[in-house]
Amino acid sequence: MNPITTDIPKIFFSDYLGTPFQRCIQCECDLLIEEKPYLIEKALKPYGSYDAYSTLFEYAVCMRCAEGMKSMLSKESLANLMHYFSTHTDHVGYRQELASMGDFDPIKWIEKCMISGRDVSELTECQIYAFCAGDQLVFSEFPYMISGPVLDEVVDLISAETKDELDRFKDEFVDGPSEFQDLLKSGPKVFI
Ligand SMILES: [Zn+2]
Repeated sequence: MNPITTDIPKIFFSDYLGTPFQRCIQCECDLLIEEKPYLIEKALKPYGSYDAYSTLFEYAVCMRCAEGMKSMLSKESLANLMHYFSTHTDHVGYRQELASMGDFDPIKWIEKCMISGRDVSELTECQIYAFCAGDQLVFSEFPYMISGPVLDEVVDLISAETKDELDRFKDEFVDGPSEFQDLLKSGPKVFI
Protein backbone atom coordinates (compact mmCIF):
# COMPACT_ATOMS: atom_id res chain seq x y z
CA MET A 1 0.00 0.00 0.00
CA ASN A 2 1.38 3.41 -0.92
CA PRO A 3 1.69 5.84 1.95
CA ILE A 4 -0.74 8.74 2.03
CA THR A 5 0.85 12.03 1.08
CA THR A 6 -0.18 15.64 0.63
CA ASP A 7 1.43 18.88 -0.55
CA ILE A 8 3.63 20.24 2.24
CA PRO A 9 1.50 22.82 4.09
CA LYS A 10 2.85 26.34 4.74
CA ILE A 11 3.34 25.65 8.43
CA PHE A 12 6.19 23.29 7.40
CA PHE A 13 7.76 25.78 4.96
CA SER A 14 11.02 27.49 5.85
CA ASP A 15 9.98 30.83 7.33
CA TYR A 16 13.47 32.10 6.67
CA LEU A 17 13.23 31.35 2.94
CA GLY A 18 9.47 31.81 2.58
CA THR A 19 9.42 28.62 0.48
CA PRO A 20 9.60 24.89 1.13
CA PHE A 21 12.91 23.75 2.62
CA GLN A 22 15.46 23.19 -0.13
CA ARG A 23 18.60 21.79 1.49
CA CYS A 24 19.62 19.40 4.23
CA ILE A 25 21.08 21.48 7.05
CA GLN A 26 24.01 19.10 7.42
CA CYS A 27 25.11 17.72 4.01
CA GLU A 28 23.30 20.48 2.05
CA CYS A 29 21.94 18.04 -0.51
CA ASP A 30 19.04 19.38 -2.60
CA LEU A 31 15.95 17.85 -0.99
CA LEU A 32 13.56 18.62 -3.83
CA ILE A 33 15.73 17.42 -6.73
CA GLU A 34 17.18 14.30 -5.13
CA GLU A 35 13.84 13.26 -3.62
CA LYS A 36 15.59 11.79 -0.61
CA PRO A 37 13.22 11.45 2.33
CA TYR A 38 13.87 14.04 5.01
CA LEU A 39 12.61 15.37 8.34
CA ILE A 40 11.50 18.91 9.14
CA GLU A 41 11.64 20.24 12.69
CA LYS A 42 10.44 23.70 13.71
CA ALA A 43 10.18 25.29 17.14
CA LEU A 44 7.39 27.85 17.30
CA LYS A 45 5.71 30.30 19.59
CA PRO A 46 2.09 30.02 18.48
CA TYR A 47 -0.32 32.88 19.16
CA GLY A 48 -3.53 31.00 19.83
CA SER A 49 -3.23 28.84 16.72
CA TYR A 50 -0.90 28.07 13.84
CA ASP A 51 -2.34 31.02 11.90
CA ALA A 52 0.05 33.37 13.72
CA TYR A 53 3.35 32.35 15.25
CA SER A 54 7.00 33.26 15.52
CA THR A 55 9.71 30.78 14.63
CA LEU A 56 12.46 30.00 17.15
CA PHE A 57 14.38 27.65 14.90
CA GLU A 58 13.77 25.48 11.91
CA TYR A 59 15.61 23.03 9.74
CA ALA A 60 15.25 20.12 7.38
CA VAL A 61 17.61 17.17 7.53
CA CYS A 62 17.89 14.22 5.13
CA MET A 63 17.30 10.79 6.65
CA ARG A 64 20.95 9.81 6.32
CA CYS A 65 22.09 12.80 8.38
CA ALA A 66 19.16 12.33 10.80
CA GLU A 67 20.43 8.84 11.59
CA GLY A 68 23.79 10.38 12.45
CA MET A 69 22.07 12.88 14.76
CA LYS A 70 20.36 10.06 16.62
CA SER A 71 23.75 8.58 17.39
CA MET A 72 24.53 11.79 19.31
CA LEU A 73 22.21 10.51 22.04
CA SER A 74 24.06 8.55 24.71
CA LYS A 75 22.77 5.11 25.71
CA GLU A 76 21.58 6.53 29.00
CA SER A 77 19.66 9.31 27.27
CA LEU A 78 18.08 6.90 24.80
CA ALA A 79 16.96 4.57 27.59
CA ASN A 80 15.49 7.51 29.54
CA LEU A 81 13.65 8.79 26.48
CA MET A 82 12.25 5.38 25.58
CA HIS A 83 11.00 4.89 29.12
CA TYR A 84 9.42 8.35 29.12
CA PHE A 85 7.58 7.80 25.85
CA SER A 86 6.45 4.31 26.77
CA THR A 87 4.90 5.60 30.01
CA HIS A 88 3.38 8.81 28.58
CA THR A 89 1.44 7.53 25.63
CA ASP A 90 -2.06 8.64 26.61
CA HIS A 91 -2.66 10.74 23.54
CA VAL A 92 -0.73 8.89 20.87
CA GLY A 93 -4.04 7.43 19.73
CA TYR A 94 -5.33 10.82 18.64
CA ARG A 95 -3.64 10.74 15.25
CA GLN A 96 -4.45 7.05 14.77
CA GLU A 97 -8.10 8.01 15.22
CA LEU A 98 -7.80 10.70 12.54
CA ALA A 99 -6.12 8.18 10.23
CA SER A 100 -8.86 5.61 10.79
CA MET A 101 -11.46 8.26 9.90
CA GLY A 102 -9.49 9.01 6.73
CA ASP A 103 -8.74 12.52 7.99
CA PHE A 104 -5.35 13.46 6.54
CA ASP A 105 -5.34 17.18 7.27
CA PRO A 106 -1.78 17.76 8.53
CA ILE A 107 -2.85 20.74 10.65
CA LYS A 108 -5.26 18.53 12.62
CA TRP A 109 -2.47 16.01 13.15
CA ILE A 110 -0.36 18.67 14.89
CA GLU A 111 -3.18 20.43 16.78
CA LYS A 112 -2.59 18.48 20.00
CA CYS A 113 0.63 17.53 21.75
CA MET A 114 1.42 13.90 20.99
CA ILE A 115 2.31 13.29 24.65
CA SER A 116 0.15 15.55 26.81
CA GLY A 117 -2.80 16.06 24.47
CA ARG A 118 -2.70 19.82 25.12
CA ASP A 119 -4.11 21.93 22.30
CA VAL A 120 -1.93 24.41 20.40
CA SER A 121 -4.25 27.21 21.62
CA GLU A 122 -3.03 26.58 25.21
CA LEU A 123 0.67 26.67 24.36
CA THR A 124 3.29 29.40 24.27
CA GLU A 125 5.90 27.12 22.72
CA CYS A 126 5.93 23.87 20.79
CA GLN A 127 7.91 21.87 18.26
CA ILE A 128 6.42 20.35 15.12
CA TYR A 129 7.85 17.52 13.06
CA ALA A 130 7.12 16.22 9.56
CA PHE A 131 8.47 13.47 7.35
CA CYS A 132 8.65 14.49 3.69
CA ALA A 133 9.77 13.25 0.29
CA GLY A 134 10.28 15.80 -2.45
CA ASP A 135 7.41 18.29 -2.23
CA GLN A 136 5.14 15.85 -0.39
CA LEU A 137 4.43 15.39 3.31
CA VAL A 138 4.16 11.66 4.06
CA PHE A 139 1.78 10.47 6.79
CA SER A 140 3.21 7.86 9.16
CA GLU A 141 3.93 8.41 12.85
CA PHE A 142 4.54 11.91 11.49
CA PRO A 143 3.48 14.68 11.46
CA TYR A 144 3.25 15.43 15.17
CA MET A 145 3.63 18.19 17.72
CA ILE A 146 5.30 18.21 21.15
CA SER A 147 4.33 20.95 23.58
CA GLY A 148 6.81 23.17 25.40
CA PRO A 149 6.22 21.72 28.89
CA VAL A 150 6.80 18.18 27.58
CA LEU A 151 9.97 19.31 25.78
CA ASP A 152 11.25 20.75 29.06
CA GLU A 153 10.66 17.39 30.75
CA VAL A 154 12.35 15.56 27.90
CA VAL A 155 15.40 17.83 28.00
CA ASP A 156 15.82 16.92 31.68
CA LEU A 157 16.06 13.25 30.69
CA ILE A 158 19.04 13.86 28.46
CA SER A 159 22.45 13.21 29.92
CA ALA A 160 25.13 15.89 30.20
CA GLU A 161 27.12 13.92 27.64
CA THR A 162 24.33 14.23 25.07
CA LYS A 163 23.76 17.89 25.88
CA ASP A 164 27.42 18.52 25.05
CA GLU A 165 26.94 16.76 21.70
CA LEU A 166 23.88 18.87 20.92
CA ASP A 167 25.78 22.02 21.86
CA ARG A 168 28.59 21.03 19.53
CA PHE A 169 26.05 20.51 16.75
CA LYS A 170 24.57 23.93 17.44
CA ASP A 171 27.99 25.61 17.45
CA GLU A 172 28.93 23.99 14.17
CA PHE A 173 25.82 25.13 12.37
CA VAL A 174 25.31 28.48 14.05
CA ASP A 175 28.87 29.56 13.39
CA GLY A 176 29.13 27.94 9.97
CA PRO A 177 28.17 29.61 6.69
CA SER A 178 24.64 28.30 7.02
CA GLU A 179 21.72 30.27 5.66
CA PHE A 180 19.79 28.99 8.66
CA GLN A 181 21.99 30.44 11.34
CA ASP A 182 19.62 33.20 12.46
CA LEU A 183 16.81 30.77 13.03
CA LEU A 184 19.06 28.24 14.71
CA LYS A 185 20.30 30.72 17.31
CA SER A 186 18.44 29.07 20.13
CA GLY A 187 19.62 25.67 18.94
CA PRO A 188 17.91 22.34 18.70
CA LYS A 189 16.57 21.31 22.06
CA VAL A 190 16.18 17.65 21.29
CA PHE A 191 15.77 15.30 18.38
CA ILE A 192 12.96 12.86 18.64
ZN1 LIG B 1 21.91 15.38 4.77
